[in-house]
Amino acid sequence: MNEHGMLVVVSGFSGAGKGTLMKELLNRYENYALSISATTRAPRTGEVDGKEYFFVTEEHFNDMIEKEELIEYAQYVNHSYGTPKEYVLNQMKMGKDVILEIEIQGALKVKERFPEAILLFVMPPNAQELKRRLIGRGTESMEVINARLRRASEEAQGMEAYDYILINDEIDTCVEEMHLMIQVQHKRASNNMAFLSQIREELKNI
Ligand code: 5GP
Repeated sequence: MNEHGMLVVVSGFSGAGKGTLMKELLNRYENYALSISATTRAPRTGEVDGKEYFFVTEEHFNDMIEKEELIEYAQYVNHSYGTPKEYVLNQMKMGKDVILEIEIQGALKVKERFPEAILLFVMPPNAQELKRRLIGRGTESMEVINARLRRASEEAQGMEAYDYILINDEIDTCVEEMHLMIQVQHKRASNNMAFLSQIREELKNI
């Protein structure tokens, strides 16, 4: 029914398990594409340029802003992150639901520009579990982990702006819930305006 794909914004505290969740969703279902962001932060061990992120300099990032190549951008713990526009719009035109794994400021900007987007917030079952996962990941210093936990506390203030909350306790359940929420969003009347107009026309002429 939907001619175009939808934007799916996924936010959540650092360490909530968004990465694993996205990977599993893309493994299971074909209709999703994952947007690759640009960032000025350094790659973590194992991260590849063009796969997890496009790792760019401050100058390059500012250039992208100036040329309006980003759908949105924001600062997160001393670094810039942004969503390149071209790939996202092309994938949507091809009917794919495009997932943006971004933080809250960016998420709110997307909702302003694309009101039909669905905003999901992923969280762990409790705060202790969040800290445990961040430390267990072993990719950040204690200083960065603490900065990220402080940021989580700030972001927790804005969670009401999201459409749905996803508790990532058990990954299998969480993936299926996420898929279901997106499918339901596709069925919203406001996301099917072309189809509604068509039915109205047909009813007039019947
Ligand atoms: P990380 O450094 O852990 O990969 O990402 C830090 C935060 O930046 C995460 O909350 C992630 O969702 C967010 N982020 C990643 N890419 C983007 C983006 O393109 N735009 C915005 N606004 N946030 C992003």
